Amino acid sequence: MNKKKRLSIILPIYNEAKNLHLLYESLTKALDKKSKDFIYELIMINDGSLDDSWSIIQTLQQKNSHIMGINFSRNFGYQAALTAGYKHATGDAIITMDSDLQHPPELIDPMIKEWQKGYKIVYARRIDRQDTFLKKITARFYHYLLDSISEIKIPQGVSDFRLLDRQIVDEINQYHEKSRYLRGMIAWMGFDHTFVDFHQPSRQHDETKYTWSKLIKIAFDGIIGFSIIPLKLAAYAGFFVILTGTIMLGIITIDALFFQGQYPLFKWLVTILYIFIGVLFILLWILGEYIGRMYEELKGRPLFIIKEIKKIDPYINSWDR
Ligand code: UDP
Ligand code: MG
Repeated sequence: MNKKKRLSIILPIYNEAKNLHLLYESLTKALDKKSKDFIYELIMINDGSLDDSWSIIQTLQQKNSHIMGINFSRNFGYQAALTAGYKHATGDAIITMDSDLQHPPELIDPMIKEWQKGYKIVYARRIDRQDTFLKKITARFYHYLLDSISEIKIPQGVSDFRLLDRQIVDEINQYHEKSRYLRGMIAWMGFDHTFVDFHQPSRQHDETKYTWSKLIKIAFDGIIGFSIIPLKLAAYAGFFVILTGTIMLGIITIDALFFQGQYPLFKWLVTILYIFIGVLFILLWILGEYIGRMYEELKGRPLFIIKEIKKIDPYINSWDR
């Protein structure tokens, strides 16, 4: 008989008291079907909820020994909750999903099947988002922006509902960058990935916990963390200012020398000052390049990730041939 594999489910929880019982029921129903081949653990991370989510987690934990409860001292945010989950997960396959019933547990089974085929990353992909028009548009635009300016390609339509192989999670656990955008980090890592499609049900209870300000912060983490193009803006501005300033200076010089143009001193000064502002921009950019490099170093991402190694068999001495 082969040994049972371990499956971890990570559930970040922020004010989900109304959803937790329902979530628990549907999750255990889906997981019990897999109990022949898998031992599961549910890692419930209470991200500083203001309602009684934590006491519900505690009651569930007393009922079911597969549940691990983690209680944050305050609200640290979704990415932090996921990170804590990854640190504590012991599974061979690790699934992260939202606790607001927008990520159907029925998908766990097809995701595991893809993983068993050998995919290290399995994304659940929404085929129709039930979000507001504004959120849809901004999400689309953001993806486009990130796609065009950064070095990595984040797949369209995926959320943080995904399965990762142990190897990927071990890798993530070594990264210590603080402003994290896990979706980007995972895409950056490479590896074979695949998708399982689903219709996202609309919210069961209350509103999204993602306020616009939180979304903007994550968007910035995504762009700044994966692209140094914002740095180059100073360079573009600098070259533009120097170019236009020099043209202006040229025009008034020619006018003064050959066409008897009369310019008061301050006009000359303004033109020259304008050019110097351009020079300042260039210096800012150079400074920015140094800072950008420091940022790269500080992030401490590995230079490469090895998927597998085929070692030389020490008993076959190929040097003899
Ligand atoms: N969440 C969290 N901390 C937060 C905000 C949200 O742990 O500061 C959890 C929340 O309980 C849910 C998941 O993250 O399980 C996704 O949140 P939400 O459903 O509000 O996001 P959306 O569906 O709008 O992407
Ligand atoms: Mg949600």
